[in-house]
Amino acid sequence: ASSNKFFVGGNWKCNGTKESITKLVSDLNDAKLEADVDVVVAPPFVYIDQVKNSLTDRIEIAAQNSWVGKGGAFTGEISVEQLKDIGCKWVVLGHSERRHVIGEDDQFIGKKAAYALSEGLGVIACIGEQLQEREAGKTFDVCFQQLKAYADAIPSWDNVVIAYEPVWAIGTGKVATPEQAQEVHAALRDWLKNNVSADVATKTRIIYGGSVNGSNCAELAKQEDIDGFLVGGASLKGPEFATIVNSVT
Ligand code: PEP
Repeated sequence: ASSNKFFVGGNWKCNGTKESITKLVSDLNDAKLEADVDVVVAPPFVYIDQVKNSLTDRIEIAAQNSWVGKGGAFTGEISVEQLKDIGCKWVVLGHSERRHVIGEDDQFIGKKAAYALSEGLGVIACIGEQLQEREAGKTFDVCFQQLKAYADAIPSWDNVVIAYEPVWAIGTGKVATPEQAQEVHAALRDWLKNNVSADVATKTRIIYGGSVNGSNCAELAKQEDIDGFLVGGASLKGPEFATIVNSVT
């Protein structure tokens, strides 16, 4: 990890019931979490209110998506204003499942990030290459292009955490090696330095996501440019998520 404050997010995706979420919240409330770590969880929209009303204030709430502009006649969407109204501080944008399953593109994601930031939400800005792109030697090109789309759209990086999540590692159990992750994180920091500013490159947290669990987090956390994690599957288990939070070095 760099000298930036460690950041760990739990992305619950489209999982859970009132009952299972009650248990998860209770486990998180009981967990001992290192003080010097920002901890955020992203429940499904329909359970955000339940979580907000029962989870310790120590953990902040993120939404898993938000509408690209002000709310209104957009059936099925959830606005940034509504997310703020129910106590969200963050939103996850550009997740690979939204890019590759739902079909969101770089420009749309960039606009969403700009709107969420303009309304005061923090943005967990996801990027990452697919397996065939990595195998074709295009990892940096793909990640830089996705990063540039955010950079082109947003006026400031103050409230942004970048999540590097190689698509081939998400939900597959196939975690990137610490060296593979570090290599991309360092390249992303370099890109920020060359294309935004040295200050933004130093201060922006770059977290890793993709099959992080209680057993592999410690080695990843030691890498110089890994400032935390975005965790899917393992964030559904309170004690294991706490282990990942506490892997800060
Ligand atoms: C994610 O969805 O952001 C993720 C990293 O999932 P998993 O930890 O399950 O690979």
